[in-house]
Amino acid sequence: MKAVGRRMFLYNTVCEVILYNYSKDATGLLDECERSSLTVQNMLNRYDEQSELSMLNRNYRPGVPYPLSEELFVLLQAVWRFSGLCQGAFDATVGNLVRLWDFTAKDPAAPKERQVKEALARCGYQKVSFREEDHSVIIRIPGMEIDGGGFGKGYAVGQVLNVLRKAGVSSALINYGGNLFLLGENPETGNGGWKVGIQAPWKEKGNYLTSLYFSDLGIATSAGYERYFRQEGKTYWHILDPVSGMPADTGIKSVSIISDNPLVTDLMSTAFFVLGQEKGEEVAGRLRDYVVLEYVAATEEKLILSEGAKIWN
Ligand code: AMP
Ligand code: MG
Repeated sequence: MKAVGRRMFLYNTVCEVILYNYSKDATGLLDECERSSLTVQNMLNRYDEQSELSMLNRNYRPGVPYPLSEELFVLLQAVWRFSGLCQGAFDATVGNLVRLWDFTAKDPAAPKERQVKEALARCGYQKVSFREEDHSVIIRIPGMEIDGGGFGKGYAVGQVLNVLRKAGVSSALINYGGNLFLLGENPETGNGGWKVGIQAPWKEKGNYLTSLYFSDLGIATSAGYERYFRQEGKTYWHILDPVSGMPADTGIKSVSIISDNPLVTDLMSTAFFVLGQEKGEEVAGRLRDYVVLEYVAATEEKLILSEGAKIWN
């Protein structure tokens, strides 16, 4: 077996593409993957003032159509459709809240209730609409900030996947900061599928809840242990409930979503974490009309596997 890979630092995390048994120009193809990912980063990066999303956040005027590139328009529309489907559990307009909580800060601290309220007033996916004619977005309130943290990596994985499929790659692994896609068959075991271990939440790395075997699908995990801080005996994590403005706490400790659509794995993992088991399963059921959608979720007491995930277990 021959493996050729590329590791990149993008979206504030490690991103990797590995090609297996690819006999053509692997370097050229990996260059293309890297270019596609840089394009996504240049579009969405909140730390880059020149990214299209930063410019939108800074320059839009309330109620006035703001024209977007076709790519960002189509992406945001897809994200907004998803928000509608999960009734706002995933809401990309949480930018002000994300900034307020600032989980990536050196010394993060829980904000005051008043600050949370103020930030919440500047959130809400329903305050945004899209206009097909000129690919514009209309944000109806001032000071809103759209955050790409919950969907950028999943989208980037989807773009890389398109590049690899077009090139006829038969077997590859894409890992963008925990958003995985296992393209084709496992190069070692063939149609036995790839083995994917699911990290046990709040346990040392390498402790697994369970392992699944599947191929040609993506998987992404949302969990509190990924990014958090403790203060006065309480733990606060980076996935926020867009209704309360506080870290979502529905009893789900970790949820992994498996889908053929990498954007969906990214969005739905976050949404499921916010929705909790019952509502999460309901939304998953509706999504299943459009895409492959399976999950493994863990609460304090139990491990929940969807029907498909049970088969892969
Ligand atoms: P993930 O790790 O994929 O679950 O995404 C978490 C990231 O998405 C956070 O670091 C925030 O940038 C952003 N985020 C947090 N809560 C939400 C939410 N309810 N809806 C959309 N994005 C969110
Ligand atoms: Mg996600």
